[in-house]
Amino acid sequence: MEDRWLQTLIDGLHSRYAGVTKGEVANYIPELGKASPDHFGIAIATSAGQVFETGNSDTLFTLQSVSKPFAFGMALEAFGEEKVARHVGVEPSGDSFNSIELEKVTNRPFNPMVNAGAITVTALLYQKYGDQAMDRILTRLSAAAGRDLGIDEDVYRSESKTGHRNRAIAYLLLNFDMVPEEVEPALDLYFKQCSILVNTRDLAIMSATLCNLGKNPVTGEEVYDLDAVRNMLSIMFTCGMYDYSGEWAYRVGVPAKSGVSGGVMAVVNRQLGIASYSPKLDAKGNSCRGINVCTDLAQELGLHTFDCM
Ligand code: GLN
Repeated sequence: MEDRWLQTLIDGLHSRYAGVTKGEVANYIPELGKASPDHFGIAIATSAGQVFETGNSDTLFTLQSVSKPFAFGMALEAFGEEKVARHVGVEPSGDSFNSIELEKVTNRPFNPMVNAGAITVTALLYQKYGDQAMDRILTRLSAAAGRDLGIDEDVYRSESKTGHRNRAIAYLLLNFDMVPEEVEPALDLYFKQCSILVNTRDLAIMSATLCNLGKNPVTGEEVYDLDAVRNMLSIMFTCGMYDYSGEWAYRVGVPAKSGVSGGVMAVVNRQLGIASYSPKLDAKGNSCRGINVCTDLAQELGLHTFDCM
């Protein structure tokens, strides 16, 4: 009850930005184009397990790229840092999320937050777990959210049918031996992983699981080991908002990840998991209202990593 002010704060942010209409709903995956541009949810989960939510925080949407750090964490745990580093780098690309660009010399994708790197990570998980891989991913992400998650079959089919660019990226990766032979089932797994359904409240709890050293603060379940969380957050800090990551680090100053369906999660280490959902995106593929909400929260609560120096 004493944290009622957090509820008041997010209610205020919701009314401040509900009128913002700029941006476009993504429609390169046709099914995503059906999202209501008006939907707007905000949620915060604390490391003590309290959850605050406002607006359309119950509306379901697909994780898309927000799934990438969670899959990366699973790959780190399954293979160890060294093996993963042979397949994917840790440098910001400075390029769009769907760029068909690999590192010079190593031919690795730049990082696991752009599509090329995420497809590589998912291909490694497919190689290890085969047909069990999707269940493993769903189980892990469900543990992070604290409830059983499923996938949106329509979005999955829509991306699977139209994802030619990701297919091209995957075959380029095969050309450079970054992914194993079985490209099609690995891509299928990637499309399914992107189609996992959450609401804003789930996303705040997933984010709080990362802020809470890998332990879901609502259920108490240990979801990721500490080393994996440290690496997931580092990559989110430098690469999580695509080619807006530098600007984000400067203005907001906490690790974050966005997805093209309009979700944004931001992690305040040891304190808060923040999530926002609003499907209208800017030119870089980040939710316009999501950026507004997180920027204001960071300023009003002094959340920037270097605020306390
Ligand atoms: N599934 C989407 C894609 O591969 C994810 C991209 C995103 O959210 N930026 O294009």
